[in-house]
Amino acid sequence: MSRFDYKNGLYPNGDGITRVSDPFWMNTCQKCGHKYWSILCTDNCSNCGDPDVVRELGGIPYKQIIAERGEPIKHNSE
Ligand SMILES: [Zn+2]
Repeated sequence: MSRFDYKNGLYPNGDGITRVSDPFWMNTCQKCGHKYWSILCTDNCSNCGDPDVVRELGGIPYKQIIAERGEPIKHNSE
């Protein structure tokens, strides 16, 4: 039994698709080129705040992840 025994293994109040057992997302901002790690796939660029970010989870492209798991939930509106 894991200490992180959340429902479905997802982060509470997270993006609805990223699991606690997942690696961090690797994000590359298309606007400023900034690269950064994040727990969830809904974070905008941590440098310039732009939402146009290319993401990978453990080397798997974002599009493939959402094809398997569905669209993420965004909590912060524009
Ligand atoms: Zn940026």
